[in-house]
Amino acid sequence: MQPHPPEPFRIKMTEPIRLISPQDRQEAMQKAGYNLFALKAEDVYIDLLTDSGTGAMSQHQWAAILEGDESYAGARSYYRLQQTMQEIFGFEYFVPTHQGRAAENILSSILVKPGAIIPSNMHFDTTDANIRARGGDPENCVIQEAFIAQSTNPFKGNMDIDKLETLIQKTGPENVPFGCITITNNAGGGQPVSLQNIRETSQIYHKYHIPFFIDCCRYAENCYFIKTREPGYEKKSLLEIANEIFQTADGAFMSAKKDAIVNIGGFLAVRDAELFQKISNELILREGFITYGGLAGRDLDAMAVGLREGLDDEYLAYRIGQTAYFGNRLLENGIPIIEPAGGHAIYVDAGSFLAHIPHSEFPGQALAATLYLEGGIRGVEIGSVMFAHPDPQSGEMIYPQMELVRLALPRRVYTQSHLDYVVEIFKKVGQHRQDIHGYRILYEPQFLRHFTAKFTPLA
Ligand SMILES: *Cc1c(COP(=O)(O)O)cnc(C)c1O
Repeated sequence: MQPHPPEPFRIKMTEPIRLISPQDRQEAMQKAGYNLFALKAEDVYIDLLTDSGTGAMSQHQWAAILEGDESYAGARSYYRLQQTMQEIFGFEYFVPTHQGRAAENILSSILVKPGAIIPSNMHFDTTDANIRARGGDPENCVIQEAFIAQSTNPFKGNMDIDKLETLIQKTGPENVPFGCITITNNAGGGQPVSLQNIRETSQIYHKYHIPFFIDCCRYAENCYFIKTREPGYEKKSLLEIANEIFQTADGAFMSAKKDAIVNIGGFLAVRDAELFQKISNELILREGFITYGGLAGRDLDAMAVGLREGLDDEYLAYRIGQTAYFGNRLLENGIPIIEPAGGHAIYVDAGSFLAHIPHSEFPGQALAATLYLEGGIRGVEIGSVMFAHPDPQSGEMIYPQMELVRLALPRRVYTQSHLDYVVEIFKKVGQHRQDIHGYRILYEPQFLRHFTAKFTPLA
């Protein structure tokens, strides 16, 4: 068995957590309409809801926060971030944003017109929703193996290049204002994309004069996978790999709450001066001036330091090693997960774990609810609650190919014994999985329904 890697840090500040009683958990769930997003965080014992903004900052980041320059325009903090941005990403222009979806919103508001098609390997939920909110149609062209949980392809996040080109030809490139790729592929298991595939994707987009944007929330984890899995990259530094990735693109957007290990922040970066002008105008209207973009100066400094720490070899070996350890322990105990383990999370295949629950009764929701009720663990459904939608023509429900529960690992937060506890709860749940029932939705909003939907158990 692969051991848990020793943490390349020690702990000098603690935050108490506690497991409330089974009755209190039952009551909390009823109050929350069985939506885990509606729970009070203090009623959660092990919170694997997301790795977004939940990481532990280092002493260097906290020190940088004290140096934050809160000038409205042209703050030192901005220039420190610009320096880091230049070294890692190398785009001509960037604006800070308060998080990833703000960058997506700005980009979509400028480039997406009704009827536009935006391809990607797989859009994440906020990107998907921001494109739809502007009347566009997000399309996923990930390789078919991404949907085969047991396929151990080392780059299961790859774009299906033929599918992408066929889509562009069918749509007409004039109806594709920009194209994306998500690294790593969060919605498809945190699976990496190879550098060769990123290059081929870039070539296809550019062949049709379509600007290529990288959703790079977890680019550092992706770089580590390239270094350890893709022939020819063993000897390159992670920074060199990052440089090589972003050279292929016309722009990128990032939620810094992921691989920049900050609690808030993001950016939108581009090469084109005219597009940058439009972005600046939109940013000033909605987020703030171009040198702070809705963040405090101190947030920019924490981001500048975190971007470098997130790309550190030892940190990433620990990070990816921890996720692999967790995945292997679940597999050993017969829990079906997407293999191989991704970067930031383990995705449990709820569709096959709870094969008796149909798509329409939300097997992922059922498993996520059970994990909380049994052990105070909070994960998140990534399946039909998040992605099922009626066909715009026929009105018939289109279900996603996989029903998953994502157990995301906050960065530098939980230790081996926390993860072992989660495995023990899974063992317990596995013993009575046949008794677990589905759910029905009582309320849902128009977009991103998983955040605020209310459910009732189908007992
Ligand atoms: C988190 C995430 C986003 C959105 O970022 P927020 O900071 O949550 O707004 C977009 N794309 C991917 C791949 C993500 O993981």
